Amino acid sequence: MKHSDILLHLGEENENHSKAGSPPIYQTSNFLFDNVGDMRKALEKEDEIPFYTRGSNPTVKILQQKIAALEKTEASLVFSSGSAAVATSIIGNVNAGDHILCVSKPYSWTYKLLHELLPRFSVETTFSSGKNTINFLGQVKPNTKIIYLESPNSWTFEMQDLEAISSFAKENRIITIVDNSYASPLNQSPSDFGIDIIVHSATKYLGGHSDLVAGVACGSDEMMKKLFRSEFMTLGGIISPNDAWLMIRSLRTLPLRMKHIGESALRVVDFLEDSPKVKKIYYPFSRSFPQKDIADKYLSGPSGLFTIDLNTNNTERIEAFCNQLKVFHLACSWGSYESIAFPAITTVSSLNYDNPDIKTERVRLSVGLDDPDLLIEDLTNALDAI
Ligand SMILES: *Cc1c(COP(=O)(O)O)cnc(C)c1O
Repeated sequence: MKHSDILLHLGEENENHSKAGSPPIYQTSNFLFDNVGDMRKALEKEDEIPFYTRGSNPTVKILQQKIAALEKTEASLVFSSGSAAVATSIIGNVNAGDHILCVSKPYSWTYKLLHELLPRFSVETTFSSGKNTINFLGQVKPNTKIIYLESPNSWTFEMQDLEAISSFAKENRIITIVDNSYASPLNQSPSDFGIDIIVHSATKYLGGHSDLVAGVACGSDEMMKKLFRSEFMTLGGIISPNDAWLMIRSLRTLPLRMKHIGESALRVVDFLEDSPKVKKIYYPFSRSFPQKDIADKYLSGPSGLFTIDLNTNNTERIEAFCNQLKVFHLACSWGSYESIAFPAITTVSSLNYDNPDIKTERVRLSVGLDDPDLLIEDLTNALDAI
C-alpha cells in the first residue's frame, strides 16, 4: 500500500460516517446497546467493537489502522504518551525475576522505568552499548525476556544491527522492542528485520505540530491483543478521541514534513561540520558518523534531529550561544514544525535526567519547517557569540 493510501484513506470508511470528508471525533466514553446479546458480543471483542473508550473508540480505531500499516505490522495500540507506550510494552512482557537487556543511554524516562521502577518488582536490567552486537548479546542471561533497543537514540544517535539482534532473540525466545521515534516509520521499518514491538513517541514526528502528546506500539495481532487485555486496559494510558483526530490530520502531511525537514537538516549539518566553533557533531547522515554502514542499511532517509558539542567548556559562552538563537526556540521536545534547541546544560541539575553522558557543551537541535537559510543565519549569529 502506498503511503498516500494509508495516510489519506485507510480506515476512514466515509460511507459509515454520513460521508463526512474528515473523520468524526467520537467524543464519548460510552457506547449504547439495544439488547443484552449485542452488549455481550461487544464485550467479548472489546478491542474491536466500541464498548467503552478506554478500550476502543472509532476515531482511535482509524488511527490504529494507519499506524499499523505505516509500521508494516498487523496491529497497533495508541497511547496518551510515548512513555505510556514504552512502559506498557515492557511491563506487559516481564514477570518478577526476569531480566531485560537494554542499550545504554535510552530515553530518560525509559531509563527511569528500567533502572528505578522495575527493580522494585524484581525485574533487573543490564544497560550495554549496542554498537558491537557480539558484546551486546554477550550480556544476555538465561532469564532475559526483553531486548530493548533505540536505534538511533535521541542524543548521540548510536545505532544497533536490528537484524542480527532480532535473529538471535528469536532463537532464544526473547522479545525485541525498538523505539523508532527518531527515524519515524517512513525512514526505518524495524518489522522488516524481525523486531517484535515498535514504539514511538508520537509527540515527535507523527504528531509533528507541538500540539499533542501521544505514543504508539506496533506488533503482531497476538502481541497487541495480549497487551490490550492486561496492561493497556489496566494502566489506561489511552489517547483522547480529540488527540487521535489531531494525529490523523497531522499524519496526512508526514511525508511532506519529513522530506523538507530531512533536506534542511542535511544543509544545516553540512554548514556546522565546517565550523571551527563546533567540536563534534552527532548525526547519522553526517560525514563523521562512526556507524555509516549501519545507517546505510537501516535508514532510508534523514531526520531533523542532531546534536553538537560546542568547542568551548565556558558555560557563559555556551549560554550566550543558546540565548542568541532566535529562529531555533529553546525547548525540550523535537520533531515538530518549529525548530528547537535543547541545551544539555539545563539538564545537569535536573533530578529527572539520569543520562550519564550529558555534557555542558552539548546542544541538541531539531530542524523543523523553517527555511534552512534562516536556520544557518541564526546559527552563524549564535556561533559568533561564543
Ligand atoms: C520523547 C521521547 C519519548 C517519550 O515520549 P512522550 O511522548 O514524551 O511520552 C520516548 N522515546 C524517545 C526517543 C523520545 O524522544
